[in-house]
Amino acid sequence: MGNILGSLQPAALWNHFEEICKIPHPSKHEEKIREYIVNWAKKTNLETKVDEVGNVIIRKPATKGMENRKGIILQGHIDMVPQKNSDVAHDFEKDPITPWIDGEWVKAKGTTLGADNGMGAAAIMAVLEAKDLVHGQIEALFTVDEETGMTGAFGLKPGLFTGEILMNLDTEEEGDLCVGCAGGTNANMKFKYTEEATPAGMEAFKVNVTGLKGGHSGVDISLERANSNKILNRVLWFAHKNFGLRLSSIEGGTLRNAIPRESFAVVIIPKDKVAAFKKYVQEFQAVVINEYKGVETDLKISLEIVAAPAKVIDQKTTFSLLNAIYATPNGVIRDSQDMKGLVETSTNLAIVKSEKGEIIVQCLLRSSVDSAKEDLEKMIESVYNLAGAESIFDGQYPGWKPNMDSAILKEMIAAYEKQFGVKPHISAIHAGLECGLLGGVYKNWDMISFGPTICFPHSPDEKVNIASVKKFWDFLVETLKNAPKK
Ligand SMILES: [Zn+2]
Repeated sequence: MGNILGSLQPAALWNHFEEICKIPHPSKHEEKIREYIVNWAKKTNLETKVDEVGNVIIRKPATKGMENRKGIILQGHIDMVPQKNSDVAHDFEKDPITPWIDGEWVKAKGTTLGADNGMGAAAIMAVLEAKDLVHGQIEALFTVDEETGMTGAFGLKPGLFTGEILMNLDTEEEGDLCVGCAGGTNANMKFKYTEEATPAGMEAFKVNVTGLKGGHSGVDISLERANSNKILNRVLWFAHKNFGLRLSSIEGGTLRNAIPRESFAVVIIPKDKVAAFKKYVQEFQAVVINEYKGVETDLKISLEIVAAPAKVIDQKTTFSLLNAIYATPNGVIRDSQDMKGLVETSTNLAIVKSEKGEIIVQCLLRSSVDSAKEDLEKMIESVYNLAGAESIFDGQYPGWKPNMDSAILKEMIAAYEKQFGVKPHISAIHAGLECGLLGGVYKNWDMISFGPTICFPHSPDEKVNIASVKKFWDFLVETLKNAPKK
């Protein structure tokens, strides 16, 4: 056993965490940590199996007198995000993480610590090994690759568990009980266009929409920031209708899960309409700045004079594209009725790009309610049907709708209050979690997620609060003891 963290309580959890730190385990390289856990479980005489995608499942029977309790699945992921400061030499596939104690925190030396989700894995191992805890049947699920594709959760097969309550130990704020997340769908629309020679008597411009804040298309969508693809389209639509604009190329946004910050188009305008076009763009910029006052501070719409392109996109496709983008729903669609302040359904018009006879439009749809997400898919498909474009929906993963009547939630709220004298905070997130996928396979599971306080996960500043680990553990132990009856 390691001894850097040897003075910390609970000793078993910290010991396991220190051992995990010694074994390299970046996402998609979980072989060594998996082997370590499997060998450890065999030595501990626990029933163990590895599934087809590399998840580890371990079973521990109920303690005496607790056989009538609902079985609990304790779940955490065994991969970590490999991030380091540029002045640190560290090979995440070979070198151990070196934890150290800095006052109230445990940190690593210039790298991510892997408390996300090594803390969860260590806690599960401590429960599996303990001889002094009281609990019903425990099934442990150690998933792989949570951070880069959730392939472990995606690949989990039905029929492997008999428990009915899933406790995911991957929430990063002690005192927070997470009870919901969003599912997702990628929407991919495609227009085919023909090129036409640029007509004579036109002037060419590049229209730039820049300076937007952007952000994560899930957790930041409620901030109502501007979407550069939508803003650019307003300019193009108006100028197409009123000034005879022709579109040569368009490009906006780079990532599906990022709110687009910059969009560009190369257009041509009849010479006699150029003055009116310039005036309109200037006035429209003021209009948009006013609309997003207090939200976007550096939004800019600018025109650049460029050399005339040789070709432009055909009229019919330009008309269909600009109208379809205008009609595409974007941003928050509905707030959750289960939980105040939570976005239930949203969509991000992430990418618009013309290339070699095709224009691609991509959106990322999210919802904690699967049927609401499907409704939104059809809404978008309808727009593109009318526009004569093709729509393909893929990458679907289910959401986790908050269940405020959940038995384990009620149990845990009461236990937390009794133990610490305050109510826990109940939360949900408008982004994907493994729970969404797991609950999609095991539809009967009552699920909840909690954990110790971890700051700056996924960065070399990652740190875990020592006192919160003790509270998290005590709460977990108490919750197992009070698990609902079958
Ligand atoms: Zn995590």
